[in-house]
Amino acid sequence: MRSVSSGWNILISGWACTLIGTGILFTMPEPTGLLVGTPLLIAGFPLLLVALSRGRQASGEKADPNWSPSPESLPDAGRVMYRVDTSLDKPIRTSILCGACGEVGWADGKKPLRYICAGCGILLWNEEEE
Ligand SMILES: [Zn+2]
Repeated sequence: MRSVSSGWNILISGWACTLIGTGILFTMPEPTGLLVGTPLLIAGFPLLLVALSRGRQASGEKADPNWSPSPESLPDAGRVMYRVDTSLDKPIRTSILCGACGEVGWADGKKPLRYICAGCGILLWNEEEE
């Protein structure tokens, strides 16, 4: 099982326990509300905390500096599609995924003004001032 989906399960169960517990506590007459609602609340809060801390870990893994887009073909929309991703942390590098051939190219720094795909030789964009 993937950690992301199990994190979601815990988050949903935690929310369900907390919400149902709160609902029972305020709608049911005493002592039933206290007897049923309190254990649910006590069970729900730790689940929520676990789920939230897991979510933070998962988003930390996402910021992996070695991340790169998987080579894939982008849908053809009448022109050559491409995807540009610039890293947020140093060293700043930009990956360019060519939609025509699926080749992933790298450029140092931010998105270059002009880029020609190394795989198929197509000019993907040209923003250079003339
Ligand atoms: Zn290409």
